[in-house]
Amino acid sequence: MFDSTSMLIYTLFYIIVSACFVFRTTEFVSNGLTVENLFETYIGKEFDAFVTHHIKRTALTVIVHSCIPFVYLLGTLIANDSETEFVYRHFYELCCLALLPIICCCSVVFKWMSNDWANHPLALLLNRYDPADWKLVANEISTEYQCLQKLTLSCGTLTRTIVTNNWVISVKSHSVCVAKKMESSFMVYSSDDHSSTLDGTPGSVQFINIQVIPIRARVKSFFIRIKTEDFKTLEEKIGQPIQIANNIKLQRSRTERFIEVFRDQVCQNPVYTNFTAADLDDSTCAGCLVNPPDVKLTKCCDDTEIPDMPNCTSCQCRPMWCVDCMAKWYESRQPQNNPTMWLSSKCTCPLCRRVFCILDVCPLANTELAQQTS
Ligand SMILES: [Zn+2]
Ligand SMILES: [Zn+2]
Ligand SMILES: [Zn+2]
Repeated sequence: MFDSTSMLIYTLFYIIVSACFVFRTTEFVSNGLTVENLFETYIGKEFDAFVTHHIKRTALTVIVHSCIPFVYLLGTLIANDSETEFVYRHFYELCCLALLPIICCCSVVFKWMSNDWANHPLALLLNRYDPADWKLVANEISTEYQCLQKLTLSCGTLTRTIVTNNWVISVKSHSVCVAKKMESSFMVYSSDDHSSTLDGTPGSVQFINIQVIPIRARVKSFFIRIKTEDFKTLEEKIGQPIQIANNIKLQRSRTERFIEVFRDQVCQNPVYTNFTAADLDDSTCAGCLVNPPDVKLTKCCDDTEIPDMPNCTSCQCRPMWCVDCMAKWYESRQPQNNPTMWLSSKCTCPLCRRVFCILDVCPLANTELAQQTS
């Protein structure tokens, strides 16, 4: 198809660059090569005026993306050095063709812009929540977005889910959907597993698509996409249970899986009996303030032979932690990018900082944990 090498190289280069721009690769985003960054003076900052920012951003994104084929053709004027090339012979026809998407998109955006953006899909959506003046709703959302308590969950660089006090917002390249939390129901609709994540953390990761179904008339349902490990956080922030479709099995988070392994190991350790009821004194775990303490750090291992590791010592603190909180503490002190080393590694007591390993975490006698020992 290509007679000249320069045209072939230019075409490949252009395809890669525009794909990276449209799909917002991490490199492009971190170097500011995004629509919202390049046109920041016109679009404004998201934090200052959330709704206005996204109305302008989506409109401009549509136009910028529609220009990609036309800019390619303009580039061929420089890159092409052969008169037999297809683009050279049909340049004007191709230009007309490439102008079509630009004309279509511009006319759509002009329609959106009329009456101070009142015809933009997001403004029309907000209009359903306040038929008198959509800008009141827009201001409410913008103010809530500035609040520190909002939850933001990113899924790659293309989609973002924001939960404020009253609203659930899904931000995508070309669209923004909102729904009032109290007036919507939520359901996990589908899930997909991936063997490794983009940020390089090992292990598999699961994504779920949650359908947000607004009860209000003429407000369409939409999807939000999050990592399964954020599911509990999202459910808490939404303040109502999220239903899960029958055929979907949520993957447990890495912490949940680690707690189970940790618990299994602790159950195999010697039971600790050298304490009195007064030591516990009806206390609750210092971590979760819910469970009774059920582990004690006592040196049981034989670690004198291991080089490059501090030796374990018995800590003198009274039993203060439940096994789950101890597991979470232990996990938080390990190198996050290398879970295979965790069980053979060491940690320090949360209070006195004495060194212990997993073999030194002993279940307290007469606790439920001690009864599970094998
Ligand atoms: Zn606890
Ligand atoms: Zn201690
Ligand atoms: Zn030890």
